[in-house]
Amino acid sequence: MSRPVPPPAAGSAGGRAYAIGLRNRFRGITVREGLLVHGPAGWGEFSPFAEYGPRESSRWWQACVEAAHTGWPEPVRTTVPVNVTVPAVGPERAAQIVASGGCATAKVKVAEKGQDPAEDLARVEAVRDALGPGGRIRVDANGAWDADTAVSMITELDRFGLEYAEQPCASLEELARVRRRVDVPVAADESIRKAEDPLKVRAAEAADVVVLKVQPLGGVRPALEIAEACGLPVVVSSAVETSVGIAAGVALAAALPELPYACGLATVQMLTGDVTAEPLLPVDGALPVRPAAVDEEHLRAVETDPAGWRERAEAARKAGQGR
Ligand SMILES: [Mg+2]
Repeated sequence: MSRPVPPPAAGSAGGRAYAIGLRNRFRGITVREGLLVHGPAGWGEFSPFAEYGPRESSRWWQACVEAAHTGWPEPVRTTVPVNVTVPAVGPERAAQIVASGGCATAKVKVAEKGQDPAEDLARVEAVRDALGPGGRIRVDANGAWDADTAVSMITELDRFGLEYAEQPCASLEELARVRRRVDVPVAADESIRKAEDPLKVRAAEAADVVVLKVQPLGGVRPALEIAEACGLPVVVSSAVETSVGIAAGVALAAALPELPYACGLATVQMLTGDVTAEPLLPVDGALPVRPAAVDEEHLRAVETDPAGWRERAEAARKAGQGR
């Protein structure tokens, strides 16, 4: 199992809080906030979403402590391929996003509330045209389809060639049903929020691919162990963090023995600012494997009062001790 987490107290570690605007609303929020902690191994990010209490946040805190105090395992690759993300926009805009993204893989949002299936088909068709036949397309329904709709939509969308369909339905039981009825691989994302979830996904035969994020799983090492125990191919994704948090995702992707799919780590551009002069942005469809060097000027420009965040960190640390 994972090495014991070293014991820094949130109070003693201090930490600097940030608040950075989002270019588009995400999970109902328009500002991303968190705490950055510096330790002997570098910078760590603690940025659980506002609705997460101390118990759920404790893994996010452990991930931050790992980054700041322990550091990450040795990488086995020097770059990590990433996907461009296409929101539920019209076909012209979708093509523009893909063309300007410079990535060979696109993740296309489908099943948006208030839109009809023809809009999904037009968007995915435009993305295929923009990517060319060699590009890869995955669709993400964020659990919005019922099983029958998922089967018919995935089958239709596969006209344009899909590498996988991410979270077509909400429940494991529905995912398993869909998976038995379509040829396109199914990926589980929202079904995985806790360490034990990937094993449940596997046991339910609900997915062919698992999407893993570092902070909710408690760090790079725990996530690696979970990936190994689960045995399914992994796509590393972000929680829309600053480059400090993204670097942890990159470290996980870089340490996985196999990385057959592009990762969802090209999300720094969703933010209006960052805490480093050298953000982890894709070059030729890949992120470099390196930490993020926080600089004072960038951090100060987005810095906020850390009191509330230090309290959240302390509560998360205490909740984690009881595990
Ligand atoms: Mg997803």
